[in-house]
Amino acid sequence: MLQHHMFNELNSQELRAQVAEYVSKYLSSVLERNVYPSEEAISDLVHFDEPLPEEFTAAGEVIDKLAQYGAPATLPTVGGRYFGFVTGSSVPAGMAAKQLATAWDQNCAMQVLSPICSKLESVVERWIVDLLGLPEQVVAGFVSGTSTANFCGLAAARYRLLQRHGWDINRDGLFGAPEIRVVTGEHAHSTVLKAIALLGFGQDNIEWVEVDDQGRMIPEEIPQLDEHTILILQAGNVNSGSFDDFTQINRMVAGSGAWIHIDGAFGLWAAAADHLKYLTSGVELAHSWAVDGHKTINTPYDCGIVLCADQDALVSALHMQGGYIILGDRDGMFYTPEMSRRGRIIELWATLKSLGRTGVSSLVTQLHQRALQFAGEIEMIEGFRVVNDVVFNQVLVQCANDELTDRVIQRIQELRECWVGGSRWFGRSVIRVSICSWTTTAEDVARSVHSFAVALDQVTGAS
Ligand SMILES: *Cc1c(COP(=O)(O)O)cnc(C)c1O
Repeated sequence: MLQHHMFNELNSQELRAQVAEYVSKYLSSVLERNVYPSEEAISDLVHFDEPLPEEFTAAGEVIDKLAQYGAPATLPTVGGRYFGFVTGSSVPAGMAAKQLATAWDQNCAMQVLSPICSKLESVVERWIVDLLGLPEQVVAGFVSGTSTANFCGLAAARYRLLQRHGWDINRDGLFGAPEIRVVTGEHAHSTVLKAIALLGFGQDNIEWVEVDDQGRMIPEEIPQLDEHTILILQAGNVNSGSFDDFTQINRMVAGSGAWIHIDGAFGLWAAAADHLKYLTSGVELAHSWAVDGHKTINTPYDCGIVLCADQDALVSALHMQGGYIILGDRDGMFYTPEMSRRGRIIELWATLKSLGRTGVSSLVTQLHQRALQFAGEIEMIEGFRVVNDVVFNQVLVQCANDELTDRVIQRIQELRECWVGGSRWFGRSVIRVSICSWTTTAEDVARSVHSFAVALDQVTGAS
């Protein structure tokens, strides 16, 4: 009976039309919707507090419930006035491809499991290596985000450095292994620290390098490196958007035998924009890189890429075996920690296919220009100060003191014209504005800046 019912649902025109209608209703209002769910939408989430149903519920009814109570409690990050964290929107072709791929429901573990995903992974790998100006031999693994990509790149580093000292990490483990040094900047992203912990290096063993006022590693402060060392650099500081000076650092560490990994979650894409690629010059000399699709180039969420110039190290670090494995030309699971994976490559391919080289370049440039506009307009308002050099898409704004900054952030959030979060910058509170959506217009920026001014007025007027 249940099977019969579900066959009917699978072929139900009505169900498809219902979903299509909800999608279109959502997308046609999302750009104008409040940037944060209303109090009511959030309190309505109690409708999901129910025990697991005993009986079958029709798909249409399940979808109705999501549309009614789920949609209003989403964050409209697809829209143009959400500037929280570093959060990308979604390019229409990528979003549409994901809808189609939902029906395909591919498992990208092996070529034999999904010839189309295997093909797209091979093609996109070459496209990205080309776009980012990386060496020809670089290979890519398609993972959930930069957290995992950082983990994979550093796992490859660990494999190679230990292997060079006659130690097989896979067989011998980490206990009793030769020492590995990890060197990184004081502003390394928290996910880099998480990867360091997961890989067993120990966060207390990190050799920290002092940073300058933009959060860039000071090259002269880098300790002497050797063939036991992993050096982790950054393309895009999560607060200021600044880039380490790769060229200078390469010059200083050349010949040391150290492995260089670059966390370029959102910043690495600067390499694909004509006027911004000076920021990433020298990245091609690293050994591994981590970058997101879902931030700067606006693929749907759950899309990160690990890139590695040492294919053998990456594959050996993430390798898995089993009697049932059938090898193909490209089996994605050798480049990622997982075996079964959804077909995120479909959306990444569609996004790049749709944007093309010039589209990627102009998207990245547009994010930068909107950030410059934001900074320029906010500086005109007395009481606000931009505290970083706006080299990419991030703008850090401060008020006269921390208490005021914190209250203004809260007020901006309450006004719901735009959404920004707070962060800490050299011990002080800052408002962090991240321009990361292709939908953000010059008008969105002006409207948001106006909201900053209103918030400041209200907070100072009230005190
Ligand atoms: C966002 C970010 C990460 C983590 O990426 P996820 O895709 O969220 O896993 C790592 N490093 C930097 C600099 C980031 O901005």
